[in-house]
Amino acid sequence: MPYSIRLEQNLPYLVSSLLPARHAFLTRNGGVSQGIFSSLNLSAFLGDRPECVRENCRRVCSLFGLGENDAAVTCQVHGKSVRIVTEADRHECLTPVSYEADAIVTNVEKLPLLCFSADCMPLLMQDPVAGVAAAVHCGWRSSVSDIIGATVEAMVSLGAEPERICAATGPSIGFCCFECGEEVPSGVSAYLSGETDGLFRPAEEGKTYVDLAEANRRRLIQLGILPEKIDVCRECTFCHPESYWSHRYTRGKRGVQGAAICL
Ligand SMILES: [Zn+2]
Repeated sequence: MPYSIRLEQNLPYLVSSLLPARHAFLTRNGGVSQGIFSSLNLSAFLGDRPECVRENCRRVCSLFGLGENDAAVTCQVHGKSVRIVTEADRHECLTPVSYEADAIVTNVEKLPLLCFSADCMPLLMQDPVAGVAAAVHCGWRSSVSDIIGATVEAMVSLGAEPERICAATGPSIGFCCFECGEEVPSGVSAYLSGETDGLFRPAEEGKTYVDLAEANRRRLIQLGILPEKIDVCRECTFCHPESYWSHRYTRGKRGVQGAAICL
């Protein structure tokens, strides 16, 4: 797992050595929000103070040398919609987003792509030759709807080739803690055409632990991404609530962390 932690302007974040473009998997730390949003919450729609969210977004965008109104963002609905974003999609901080998309893709330089999570798996991808990048919010619903397949297809439409794509996942709820009802393992099984060896472990009361990060790694390989170009982060958000936002640990009283990549 060639991830390392960096600290810039008091903002800690993880980077993968496999992704050449500047990128960051943020944590919940390094922001100015208070109370249940303490401290790096990036959502304006969960009840946090707008001026705190703006400052938090400013800090994240400053990692790319840009301002808080310069990034393109996902508008996550646990679906499989992918949007190719351009200059016109730079998002004005604190305002509603005009589209729904759990994944965004671009070939525009200096346009950071920002997605959000709190247990769900963030995925950043790049074809360094074609100059195409993607940020994907992979909750289980989006994952089993094959949002990753749809994202790779959008990248290919911009000139990417699967064997050149580098991919890195961020902190998410791990195999240790992701206890699910039957709909998740059955969804994963259909998603991977039955390639589910080692992905499930029995939990109590008929539930199942699911290794969603490994499931998504397998899907990337099915799509033609080379195994040596895939980095899977094993940091579990539920096991480390002091470092990461976890929807389940906080029972929904929480902010969101970001994952961002910029060509
Ligand atoms: Zn865990």
